[in-house]
Amino acid sequence: MKTRIAKLMCEEALQTEEGASVIEEAGEIIRRGGLVAFPTETVYGLGADAVNKAAAKKIYEAKGRPSDNPLIVHIAYISQLAEIAGKISPEMKALSDAFWPGPLTMIVNQREGEPLIPRETTGGLSTVAVRFPSHPIANALIRESGRMIAAPSANLSGRPSPTTGQHVIEDLDGKVDMIIDSGSVDIGLESTIIDLTGDVPMVLRPGYITRDELSKVLGAVELDPAVAGIEGSAPPKAPGMRYRHYAPKAHLTIVEKKSDLAESLQERIINEALTAMEKGLKTAIICADENAHLYEGLENVKVYDIGRFSDDDEIAGNLFSVLRKCDEDGMERIFSEGFDTPRLGGAIMNRLLKAAGHDILEI
Ligand code: AMP
Ligand code: MG
Repeated sequence: MKTRIAKLMCEEALQTEEGASVIEEAGEIIRRGGLVAFPTETVYGLGADAVNKAAAKKIYEAKGRPSDNPLIVHIAYISQLAEIAGKISPEMKALSDAFWPGPLTMIVNQREGEPLIPRETTGGLSTVAVRFPSHPIANALIRESGRMIAAPSANLSGRPSPTTGQHVIEDLDGKVDMIIDSGSVDIGLESTIIDLTGDVPMVLRPGYITRDELSKVLGAVELDPAVAGIEGSAPPKAPGMRYRHYAPKAHLTIVEKKSDLAESLQERIINEALTAMEKGLKTAIICADENAHLYEGLENVKVYDIGRFSDDDEIAGNLFSVLRKCDEDGMERIFSEGFDTPRLGGAIMNRLLKAAGHDILEI
């Protein structure tokens, strides 16, 4: 398939005739059941008409995504949530007032009677994930299409989520009808997912909006025990959290310091990296900007500075592109510091641990 790649670099571009015609074209593709990759404030999404079963199936094919992993339905009017759920509950109202449009996905029950969103989109579940993104291009596209747009992240299944148009092109050129390239996204981590279908609201995937922020609006909010890493808990409630994900091609180990007595974290990382390098593996270190100088002068080990520990927005924004860069550079063995920062540390480490297949070296 020939993929049309359209550049639309900023919000102002939407006001131009050319920008408007790109959105018109993309809306038309969605209406006739095609696939359009588009930017959101979190990561790029791969969109299709959420009520069109054949279109939803095409998303799974293009990504190579397991069919039991449901898609998030993107909306551009609160009334669309009411259409899906049958009503807006007080919790939905409170969350949408506080966080929409924005990086929060709500899991809700479908309305009684005939459900609106087909099982092809919900991965066979009776609940649906709904998000109202804030990115102006995402909004313009949803409105122009006149549809709700089902969209998972626009990467091949298993690869790090795409945070630039170039990442999407790498993964999906030739597999989808259109890619709207808008450069780098703002946040760089997928949305926080909160399940509103149980007795107590539960975070199924940590993201940019933290559990504390959600608690301020809702009162008690739980974290899925599987995601919290509690041993012996049931599998994660969000099917997508069960898969190995975000993984670079290299074997990645996270090195964390747990004892006061041991050598310094950086010394240990350097030793591990040199040993791997001497075995002939292309070896990398991922570190916080504050520590980058400690790894200076290492020969034949590549050091990736992921951003400042003191600014976790920066680390969140760079995480997936650093993992992709490791692939591009042909890295075979990676050692990473942990980035358990105060605000976004939970969300960042959730992704990094999955990328590492939970391989942690504690010293
Ligand atoms: P992605 O858009 O690629 O980040 O994937 C969407 C995420 O939302 C996956 O982890 C899904 O498992 C999760 N998800 C979507 N719908 C539901 C649902 N009804 N219940 C629980 N998790 C869901
Ligand atoms: Mg994804």
